[in-house]
Amino acid sequence: MTGPVPRAEIVVDVAAIRHNVRVLKELVSADAPVGLMAVVKADGYGHGMVEAAAAAREAGADWLGVATIEEALTLRAAGDHGPLLCWLSAPGDDFAAAVAAGVEVTAYTVDELDEVAAVGSGAGEGGARVQLKVDTGLSRGGASRDRWRDLFAAAAGHERAGRIRVTGLWSHLAASDEPAHPANDAQEAAFREAVALAAAAGLDPDVTHLANSAAALLRPSAHFDLVRCGIATYGLDPAPGVAPRVGLRPAMTVRARLVMSKPVAAGDGVSYGHTWVADHDTTVGVVPVGYGEGILRAASNRASVWVGDDLRPVRGRVCMDQLVVDLHGELPPPGTEVVLFGPGDRGEPTAQDWAAAADTISYEVVTRVGGRLVRRHVDSDVDPDEEGTAP
Ligand SMILES: *Cc1c(COP(=O)(O)O)cnc(C)c1O
Repeated sequence: MTGPVPRAEIVVDVAAIRHNVRVLKELVSADAPVGLMAVVKADGYGHGMVEAAAAAREAGADWLGVATIEEALTLRAAGDHGPLLCWLSAPGDDFAAAVAAGVEVTAYTVDELDEVAAVGSGAGEGGARVQLKVDTGLSRGGASRDRWRDLFAAAAGHERAGRIRVTGLWSHLAASDEPAHPANDAQEAAFREAVALAAAAGLDPDVTHLANSAAALLRPSAHFDLVRCGIATYGLDPAPGVAPRVGLRPAMTVRARLVMSKPVAAGDGVSYGHTWVADHDTTVGVVPVGYGEGILRAASNRASVWVGDDLRPVRGRVCMDQLVVDLHGELPPPGTEVVLFGPGDRGEPTAQDWAAAADTISYEVVTRVGGRLVRRHVDSDVDPDEEGTAP
């Protein structure tokens, strides 16, 4: 690369995203054609929304999914014109802008539907494209079961009047990463009821969908017309230890340059609060990233990083700007590469390892990382030297 070597950076390999999209598409379409929606909300789970979206489309993602209208409009402004769904509107949101941009919005309530219909009557071509979300048991967004009939009746009325076109009906699972959880069967059954009720109300949506990454991998009966894959698109395991290994490739590497290394003596405490005290003479290294970069403080004394060819444990608390690792007697020079996490090919920790160390999920690890870090996109298919982690 050109220019100064950054203090610390996020490297995202777009070839890994393309690979994962291809793997997922092939997997879910093994028996019957099922569409793939790449979920790129929250800045593409920290990978860069626009770049992740472009890579996903290139590899054949049929849909993109985001939470907010703002995210959807950012994708349109970046030149994406394919099928695009957003699902989390708040009072005051600009449905007119979304509809004008050809973004499909999601309605949870009759009030929301009326709002979309009001902008849809001027939209032409059968009005605004709307998907309906039913709550089948997550008890988060979506119409509760006792409101389904009202929502479907209102939607059918607006559709007949040409104000909207109901293009989809969908729901979201609560425990798809726990395949034996009874909520899965219950939600799938409830969703089938909703689909039947919608048909009875005169609706004929193009797509029905229920599955996220974990259900895409673990529950073929929940595939319906389309699966919405977020975390798996980025190569991370949605259900560690449960989902089959299908050859996904983590796209993100976080690395830094060692600031200094130095000896500490037996009895020396390390970092704030001295939560780690050396029980023998050793050496430590200072890594210039901390919770200001989204490195989880909960991983203090628990995570490891990769220095040279070895795992080096984090000692003491993760600070705002830096963290300290045990170098086991070695004194590598300042500037030595430190990989916090990556695909794991070289033996470096993965985002899942950090998640386990911090009692959280890999979603949070990759989505939080950022702050002062520089983010760079590489394509290991074009430049084979760029394995994401290559210095
Ligand atoms: C974030 C999100 C997804 C993606 O979930 P993953 O577990 O990352 O695959 C799918 N659907 C909805 C509604 C979401 O909010």
